[in-house]
Amino acid sequence: MAVINVHDKSFETYLSEDVIQKRVKEIAAAINSEYAGKRPLFICILNGSFMFASDLFKHLTVEAELCFIKLASYKGMKSSGKVVTSIGLEEDLFGKDVIIVEDIVDTGKTLHDFLPKLSHQQPRSMKIATFLHKSEATEYPVKLDYVGFDIPNKFVVGYGLDYDGLGRNLKEIYQLV
Ligand code: 5GP
Repeated sequence: MAVINVHDKSFETYLSEDVIQKRVKEIAAAINSEYAGKRPLFICILNGSFMFASDLFKHLTVEAELCFIKLASYKGMKSSGKVVTSIGLEEDLFGKDVIIVEDIVDTGKTLHDFLPKLSHQQPRSMKIATFLHKSEATEYPVKLDYVGFDIPNKFVVGYGLDYDGLGRNLKEIYQLV
């Protein structure tokens, strides 16, 4: 098991690149079959979801649209607990099949606060794909339709997720030692 340092903290490998890629392909396959004949719009939440969104999108065979939006900021190792309004959502969601792409759902507050803003626009359907889920940490239950991995309530970095700005480039997921 590899141990790496990001800023002042040590992290150890938790999910390998192979394990991640296999799971992302499985999620893409599920989406391909469930959205056959449709044209989903993927709304990816920045910054953390960029790598998951990119890998997932490469394995899609259905026609699909994609956009990135920015929501709350997450500073340090605790959820900021405050969700700001979205930036960059220019698409009209009316009648669309929307799939929200998240890096990680922790307490659920971010999505809980944000989903009503999207449903207000009356998409035809709205599902959530999150790469990671800390189900033990749930405070605001949100229905998650596609989950990469359910992980323990420990801080993780890599595969798009950062610790104070660093670690997003890592191909694996690392857990705080
Ligand atoms: P929630 O609103 O569900 O509590 O938190 C969601 C957001 O918190 C995620 O989009 C992510 O930015 C951040 N977050 C929660 N847990 C972790 C973690 O273990 N590592 C990192 N890097 N970010 C996390």
